[in-house]
Amino acid sequence: MFRMKTNNTYSTEKQLNELKKTIEYCSTHSPHYKKTLALHDFSYQLSLEDYKKLPFTTKDELAKDHKSFCCVERKDIAEYVTTSGTTGDPISLFLTKNDLKRLAKNEKDSFELMGFANEDVFQLLTTIDKQFMAGLAYSLGVQELGAGMIRIGPGVPKLQWDSIFNYEPTVLIAVPSFIVTLIEFAKENGIDFKNSSVKSIVCIGEPLRNNDLTLNTLGKRITDNWDVQLFSTYASTEMGAAFSECSAHKGCHLNDDLIFLEVLDEHGNDVKHGDAGEIVVTTLQVEGTPLIRYKTGDIATVYYDKCSCGSTTPRLGPIIGRKNQMIKFKGTTIYPKAIFDTLEEFNDISCYKVLIEKNELGNDDLFILLEEKLIDLPVLHQIKERCREKLRVLPTFHFVDADKLRAMVYKKHMRKPEKIIFK
Ligand SMILES: [Zn+2]
Repeated sequence: MFRMKTNNTYSTEKQLNELKKTIEYCSTHSPHYKKTLALHDFSYQLSLEDYKKLPFTTKDELAKDHKSFCCVERKDIAEYVTTSGTTGDPISLFLTKNDLKRLAKNEKDSFELMGFANEDVFQLLTTIDKQFMAGLAYSLGVQELGAGMIRIGPGVPKLQWDSIFNYEPTVLIAVPSFIVTLIEFAKENGIDFKNSSVKSIVCIGEPLRNNDLTLNTLGKRITDNWDVQLFSTYASTEMGAAFSECSAHKGCHLNDDLIFLEVLDEHGNDVKHGDAGEIVVTTLQVEGTPLIRYKTGDIATVYYDKCSCGSTTPRLGPIIGRKNQMIKFKGTTIYPKAIFDTLEEFNDISCYKVLIEKNELGNDDLFILLEEKLIDLPVLHQIKERCREKLRVLPTFHFVDADKLRAMVYKKHMRKPEKIIFK
């Protein structure tokens, strides 16, 4: 079944059949694909070579005209979801009842890959409303697994701890930087968090690992304090599916029933095992808003070798950056993640914000806002040194009142902390 050609795209017979179905369905149901696929003939068996000739779908196309991607009538739409729009215009998608079942299957498969079962109890620390897909997907997945769910939602550390000691969940689903906040709160308030029921944390929204797949500073800040197993995930609303780590923690596995994956260099060629490229996906088995060769803009390393868990599906390393978030500063190229990682090494920094401004020359200016208390501390010198070492350049630092800074990062209407802003 499994074949990996020299061109490094993972494909199975089953996937190619699903791809053909998706492409035929799109070219007859979606106004957008009716136009872009008009010249292609789908009457024969689809080969990988044929597939590679199909045009890409870009984020811009989808954001500008999401209705033209919809393949179903209004009466068949069960959920209207939208992206957070942290890197551009928000994107809306339409899900049918079957698409919701597909979401549930995706999360159930992910949970089983992580080793969870129906005796587990999950606590959800992310938003489930505001058209947010992930919270809904996790909720459906826990149901599908037959496990229990406590939906607390984001924020409010005291409420989270009260619930943990009251209902004894075994798994938390959370943004990892919030787990750091949760640990700090427990320490300050004498909560015996090390003896809680929590064994594992499914982390969303932020990378946990370095490029060599060891835990990054954020991940370590959690496990150095708390004996829990952390699982990375990579997901997006557009994919309606997640890449999830197994307990080998060697990258996030593709769910090949639901997604066809390509990892491509800037010329559109497949990158090799162990190299980084842009993640491009075709969604399989989607009815509402299926996407063909969708360019996510996310850059990650791909691994095509067999995992120690026995699975042969490809795995993705942490997202190194987003194509449209490359910062060109003083002659070097930096991704925001490198700045975050550098700042998060310092326990004295509990909150920060990065500002990127285009100057007249078309280059970026890079500012880092820190809490006022750091101005007079010797650690500031170390922070600057570390920036020079790791980023090879020194950003400009500004200092802001702690409460004001916190309000700039943790905005009420945002699902994730806004750690960076491109002006
Ligand atoms: Zn594995």
